[in-house]
Amino acid sequence: MTRFSAFNPQVYPDGFYNPTAGFVESGRIIKKLVDYAEQLGVVIHQGQTAQVLERAGGRCTAVSTREGARFEAGHVVVCAGVFTPWLLPELQPYMKATGHPVFHLRPSNPELFTYPRFAVFAADISNTGWYGFPVHPTEGVVKIANHGVGVTLHPENDARVVNEEDERKLRSFLRESLPALADDPIVYTRRCLYTDTLDGHFWIDRHPGIEGLTVGTGGSGHALKMGPVLGELIADAAEGRTHRWSARYRWRHIESGKTQEEEARFKGD
Ligand SMILES: Cc1cc2nc3c(=O)[nH]c(=O)nc-3n(C[C@H](O)[C@H](O)[C@H](O)COP(=O)(O)OP(=O)(O)OC[C@H]3O[C@@H](n4cnc5c(N)ncnc54)[C@H](O)[C@@H]3O)c2cc1C
Repeated sequence: MTRFSAFNPQVYPDGFYNPTAGFVESGRIIKKLVDYAEQLGVVIHQGQTAQVLERAGGRCTAVSTREGARFEAGHVVVCAGVFTPWLLPELQPYMKATGHPVFHLRPSNPELFTYPRFAVFAADISNTGWYGFPVHPTEGVVKIANHGVGVTLHPENDARVVNEEDERKLRSFLRESLPALADDPIVYTRRCLYTDTLDGHFWIDRHPGIEGLTVGTGGSGHALKMGPVLGELIADAAEGRTHRWSARYRWRHIESGKTQEEEARFKGD
């Protein structure tokens, strides 16, 4: 691994490098999508928290919000991420909110962690969960996070904080894998939430018992990159069309003991 010399060559004698891959900033994507949606005439009611999906005669007819607004609808599509199983409790046996540690470190040797000497990485991720990014061009930090089991949380009531054990595991990973970063200061942390289905597959389908209601959720830590495909899948479900992947993400029963199927995810020691 002479090219990416920050990595410990004893642990990573080789790797796979994809020069066309990279990363996008999620906030900038969302901004772009919002602008585009508004151009298309979509009205976005910022600051409204859907609280009740109203029903009449077995059909979802309106959404009322915590802020006191009410929106009548011909068809409702719920894509509420980790809050989806709270809006639709019948989904709670099949999905949950899990929290994953994110760290920003300020490298004492930034050159070593700057592209092209360092790139977006997944470090034997099926067995460690660790992945990260080169020095951020404006913030000057290296972001490292874990794509692993996480901790189950209530999305509103539980604090989204990183604990000592998370930090201990990070330091141990760095000491072994990226020694030049092992003692550098952590300048920011957060615990970020996945909407984890028990099998790790998306959940995109019409509600089997309520007409006029479609659900698109279950990102399980890997939906952002799939965004360009998921919109089509959700639209097809809402409009009653079959997509070639509809069966995979259908409304389904999942046994409680089921484990995640994603190969590139650390499933614990
Ligand atoms: C640390 C971290 C790293 C990740 N890295 C990657 C990655 O590298 N690649 C990748 O593909 N994916 C990644 N993901 C996963 C990706 O972010 C999610 O899969 C994706 O954002 C899921 O999209 P979503 O629209 O289903 O949910 P969300 O992005 O959570 O969006 C749900 C939206 O619904 C709104 N909402 C919720 N409840 C209500 C309500 N009651 N009323 C009104 N609005 C409501 C929320 O405010 C939010 O805007 C990562 C996730 C985390 C946490």
